[in-house]
Amino acid sequence: MGNEVPREHNGATCWKCGCGLSPASSFEDVEKRTYRGVRYFVFNDGEYYRLDKPYAMNRHECRSCFEKAGRKHGTQK
Ligand SMILES: [Zn+2]
Repeated sequence: MGNEVPREHNGATCWKCGCGLSPASSFEDVEKRTYRGVRYFVFNDGEYYRLDKPYAMNRHECRSCFEKAGRKHGTQK
């Protein structure tokens, strides 16, 4: 324990627009934050996001897709 690296240590791809996302090389680059009542992992201090759900393991979203979704789904439960 303690030497594990995030799944994103080789970088990731936005599942919405396909843009490349920088690696998160250690867990210090990953935070959990709550947005609109939903828990997200936040990478590299807000460069990209992922829902804290098992089905969302590979659903990384770049900041611009994340912010777009926030406007569109702001009232969704
Ligand atoms: Zn995107």
